[in-house]
Amino acid sequence: MLHRRNFLKFGSIGAGTFLSGNLFGKGYPAPGKKPLVIATWDAGINANKNAWKVLRSGGRSLDAVEQGVMTTESEISCCVGLGANPDRDGHVTLDASIMDEHGNCGSVAFLERIKHPISVARMVMEKTPHVMLVGEGAQQFALSQGFELESGKLSGDAQQAYDEWLKKSEYKPKVNIENTNGTAFAPRKLSNGAWNHDTIGMLAIDANGNLSGSCTTSGMAFKMRGRVGDSPIIGSGLYVDNEIGAAVSTGLGEEVIKICGCHLVVQLMAAGMSPAEACKAAIAKIISRNGAKAKDLQVAFIALNKKGEFGTHAVQKGFNYAVCYSDDKNELIDSAYTMK
Ligand code: ASP
Repeated sequence: MLHRRNFLKFGSIGAGTFLSGNLFGKGYPAPGKKPLVIATWDAGINANKNAWKVLRSGGRSLDAVEQGVMTTESEISCCVGLGANPDRDGHVTLDASIMDEHGNCGSVAFLERIKHPISVARMVMEKTPHVMLVGEGAQQFALSQGFELESGKLSGDAQQAYDEWLKKSEYKPKVNIENTNGTAFAPRKLSNGAWNHDTIGMLAIDANGNLSGSCTTSGMAFKMRGRVGDSPIIGSGLYVDNEIGAAVSTGLGEEVIKICGCHLVVQLMAAGMSPAEACKAAIAKIISRNGAKAKDLQVAFIALNKKGEFGTHAVQKGFNYAVCYSDDKNELIDSAYTMK
C-alpha cells in the first residue's frame, strides 16, 4: 500500500497538482452519499436507472452493477454488447468484468455471440474456482449455464460503420477522443443521434456501505482479432477494495493496462487522496509516460470511495459520466480533464 508520504513522490506529480483546477468537472460538489451509482458516458443514464432500482430497495451493490450494465448490453444499437463495433475481421468480441465487496471477481474476454457478458463474468466468479475465461472456453461455459448463442450478424449501425471502415481498412485504432465540434474518431454516431463509446463501467455503493463494480465492452473499434483491452483485466479496467474504494476506466485500454490503472487509483485513495485526486494522478502518469503522443489518446477513470464520494478525470475533453443517488437525481456530468 502507498502511504501519504510516498505518494507525493509518485511519478512526476506533486501535491500542487491537486490543489488547482476543478477536480470534479463543472463545479460538481461530489457529495458523499449512499446508496449511489456512477457510470461512464451518456449510456450511464439508462444503466443507472436499473441499478438504482436495486439500490433504492436496499439491494446489494453487486446486483446493482450487474443489472445496471445489462441495460446497456441489451441496447442493441448502443455502445456495448452485440450491437457494438466489430473487430477488423467483422466479428463482435466482448470483454467484461465484475468485482464484489469481498474482493471476489470474475471476467470474460474475447467472448462472441453471448448477449450478457457481464452475467457470464459473474458466473465465472460465483460458479468456478477461476477468475477469467476467454474465447471459445468462455462461450462454452456460458452455454453450459443456459445462455443462448445469438446470431453473429452485425447490427445496422455497426454494419454501416464497418463498411465505411473497410473502404480504407486503415489499422489506426483510436478511442473516445471527441474534438470540440463534437465529432469523434473511433466512436460512431448512432442512427438515434447518440454516440457509441464502446465501454460502460459502473461503480456502486449500497445502503450498507458495500462497494462493487462492473465493466463491459466490445473493446476498441476495428481492433485486431484477439485483441483484449483493460476492461476484463482485474486491477486494470476495474478494481474494488471494500475498505477503501473502487475505480473503473474507459479509453485506450493498453495505456490503462501499462499502469494497472484502477488498482493504482484505489491505492492512491488508500494513501489519502480523494477519488478525483486519485483519478487525476493516474491520468498524469499516463500523460507523462506518453509525452507528446498523449494528445492522440483518451483514457478516463471514475472512482468512488467508502464514504460515497466520487471523482473522475480524463486525458482529454469529451468524457462524461452519469451519477444517480436519489429517485430524481440521475445527472450527466462533464468530467475534468488535463490536456487543454
Ligand atoms: N477500454 C476499452 C478497451 O480498450 C475501450 C473503451 O473504453 O472504449 O477495450
